[in-house]
Amino acid sequence: MMSAIKLAIVGVGKIVHDQHLPAIAANPDFQLVASASRHNIVDGLPGFKSIEEMLAAVPGIDAVSLCMPPQYRYQAARVALAAGKHVFLEKPPGATLSEVADLEALAAAKSLTLFTSWHSRYAPAVQPAKAHLAAHAPTAMQVIWKEDVRQWHPNQEWIWQAGGLGVFDPGINALSIVTEILPSLIFLNRATLEFPDNRDAPIAAELHFQDGGGMPVHAVFDWRQTGKQSWDIVVQTSDGELKLGDGGARLWVHGVEQPLTKEAEYPSLYRRFAGLVREGRSDVDVAPLRHVADAFMLGQRKVVDAFHD
Ligand code: NAP
Repeated sequence: MMSAIKLAIVGVGKIVHDQHLPAIAANPDFQLVASASRHNIVDGLPGFKSIEEMLAAVPGIDAVSLCMPPQYRYQAARVALAAGKHVFLEKPPGATLSEVADLEALAAAKSLTLFTSWHSRYAPAVQPAKAHLAAHAPTAMQVIWKEDVRQWHPNQEWIWQAGGLGVFDPGINALSIVTEILPSLIFLNRATLEFPDNRDAPIAAELHFQDGGGMPVHAVFDWRQTGKQSWDIVVQTSDGELKLGDGGARLWVHGVEQPLTKEAEYPSLYRRFAGLVREGRSDVDVAPLRHVADAFMLGQRKVVDAFHD
């Protein structure tokens, strides 16, 4: 029997409580030993104000999960890798592509695991959809990701700041599914990003991609949605329509809903991370972040009404 991986969490907030703690508690591959967060603690665990303080005080930590906002992830990841710890990065893996490349190189040089986690890729519809599209070529795709920012991101100032990604914080989840299920690579042709007058990150985006063969992918992300929320991907194929709903929790083929396994995104992420650590491998995929970077590079900027909480 292998000993448990001694894990610490850095940046204790909403997603740690909602998902990381239950997933870790249910996985015997991990033993949670400490946390580091400026203001918050995990009940029953030694808590420290910074990752540096935690690593100096707690011997034997093997790995860390970095769950703070993306603008602050690189610094903590660099400290962890330099100290010889394996690293699980929440999504998005960083604020820029280049900082993730730097972490990848450092992890490789030190023979440590670096994992860019994309939780939506573990939604139950994703692998069945991928298999379907491998057998039935897609001819067009439509992504509709519309949610109410006031409901899902209350009091999250970082999300509106540069590097916080704005509406791409949920939108990148859609892009992580798109890049997983499509059999071909896509790239952005044109985009419009809507920035509130008083914010440094977009509240809405419309994106037009294509693949090398001209297959169009149209995506609409919007944070001003009230009432019904939409996290849908609709694909036309040589064999009719495929639809993923509820962020990949549901799947329809030709309008018929398919039976799926129960949602287990974070348990799956931690199983994957344990496997990578045990096998001495990394999993670094920046494809969703690259599309977001392209949107910021190519997108037309439109200033819209100021946003107030
Ligand atoms: P959050 O609760 O706003 O932030 C997490 C924690 O990060 C905070 O409690 C805070 O703890 C720390 N933090 C905040 N600002 C910081 C700063 N300037 N420097 C260092 N630490 C800071 O956010 P979250 O919703 O958990 O999201 C965190 C990450 O998980 C994001 O990248 C997000 O995309 C991803 N994620 C979120 C969800 C979700 O449903 N919320 C789902 C999947 C993935 P201290 O004040 O104690 O330092």
